[in-house]
Amino acid sequence: MKDKIIGLIKLQDCDSRIKEVIAGKKEGPLKIQELENELKTSLMRLQEENDRFEQLKKDRRGIEQDVREIESKLEKSSIKLNNVKSNKEYKAALKEIEDLNKSKSMMEDRIIQIMEDIEALEKGCLENRDVQVELNRKFEMDKEEIEKKLEKLDNKFKDLEKQRAEFCRVIDKDLLSRYQFLKERKGGSAISPVIDGVCQTCHMGIPPQQFNNLIKGYSLLTCPNCSRMIYWGEDSHYQDVKNA
Ligand SMILES: [Zn+2]
Repeated sequence: MKDKIIGLIKLQDCDSRIKEVIAGKKEGPLKIQELENELKTSLMRLQEENDRFEQLKKDRRGIEQDVREIESKLEKSSIKLNNVKSNKEYKAALKEIEDLNKSKSMMEDRIIQIMEDIEALEKGCLENRDVQVELNRKFEMDKEEIEKKLEKLDNKFKDLEKQRAEFCRVIDKDLLSRYQFLKERKGGSAISPVIDGVCQTCHMGIPPQQFNNLIKGYSLLTCPNCSRMIYWGEDSHYQDVKNA
């Protein structure tokens, strides 16, 4: 009887490790995806900053061009002023010069503002290239590490499957189907230790007479509460089974 129980304990331990490995195998690609999304977001933010920097430089060139045009208009207006023939013409020319100077002054203010913005962005943008390289490098490293872990998990999975087949081979067929039946309906746990009269999986007490029988260990008993197969958890036969 005890050998049968030991067989089931080993099988259940193997199954729970398989479950862990499967969970880990699912987690890996999700983690990679998450890191990739983080990388994309960071790179996009850096790119936006660089785009803004380039746009500002373009804006500055545009306004400088506008200022040059206004300056040439101002030149023409000055010539006009020198050649006026009437008071009316004089006033009009003065007004024209005044308006052009106003525009020019506004543009110059705008250029100063842009220069300040450019200056504020410049250092960060120069560093962005390095930051991008570093982010890419870090992502590749993290990814590689996860992929290595996944490879290890794959190997572990294969080993555990082999072990499982071996455990199943030595358990008799009826007991194995009972195990499978319970495992599928009881969240992966078909057999439970009982310590001090308490089932360690459902945490309910079992009747004293039944507990005495369990300690004797002549037959395979069932928890009256959760229906799992049970064994006496303090029996020295079952210690270290999992680590065997
Ligand atoms: Zn129970």
